[in-house]
Amino acid sequence: MSNSSPRPHDHFDAIVIGSGPGGEGAAMGLSKAGKQVAVIEREAAVGGGCTHWGTIPSKALRHTVSRIIEFNQNPIYTQHTKSLHSTFAQILSHADSVIGKQTRMRQAFMTAINAHCSTATPSLSMPIP
Ligand SMILES: Cc1cc2nc3c(=O)[nH]c(=O)nc-3n(C[C@H](O)[C@H](O)[C@H](O)COP(=O)(O)OP(=O)(O)OC[C@H]3O[C@@H](n4cnc5c(N)ncnc54)[C@H](O)[C@@H]3O)c2cc1C
Repeated sequence: MSNSSPRPHDHFDAIVIGSGPGGEGAAMGLSKAGKQVAVIEREAAVGGGCTHWGTIPSKALRHTVSRIIEFNQNPIYTQHTKSLHSTFAQILSHADSVIGKQTRMRQAFMTAINAHCSTATPSLSMPIP
C-alpha cells in the first residue's frame, strides 16, 4: 500500500496526470494490468471535477433542496410538524460533507490499487472554478 508522493528515483510504468474519472479509470486499468502507477493531481485532493466542482456538488445540492421541498409539500409530514427551513450555508455544509466522503472513497481506491498519489498541498492548490 502506498499513496505517498512519488520521489525522484521511483520507477513507474505509467504516470497518469489528473485524478478525475478519466485518470482514476486509467490508473485502475493500468494497475489491473500489473503496472506500477503514479497519479499527479494539481489540486489538493483526488477526484477531479466530478467530485469537487461538477457531478457530486451539483447533485448533493439538488438532492438536499428537493428533499426539503418534498418534506414541506407532503401533508404526511406537514400536518404533524412545522415546515423545514435550511439556510444556504447549511445546505452548502451538507454538500461539503458529501464531497468529503467521496474524496476519501476516491483516495481509498488509489490506495487499494497501490498508486502513488501526488496532490498539491492545500496552500498551493488552484482555486476551484
Ligand atoms: C456542474 C457539473 C455537473 C456535472 N454533472 C454530471 C453528471 O451528473 N453526470 C456525469 O456523468 N457527468 C457530469 N459532469 C461532467 C463530469 O464532471 C466530467 O465529465 C468528468 O469530471 C470528466 O472527468 P475527467 O477525468 O475527464 O476530467 P476532470 O474531472 O476535470 O479531471 C481532470 C483532473 O486533472 C487535473 N489536472 C488537469 N491538468 C493537470 C496538470 N497539468 N497537472 C496535474 N493535474 C491536472 C485537474 O485538477 C482535475 O482533477 C458534470 C460537470 C459539471 C461541471
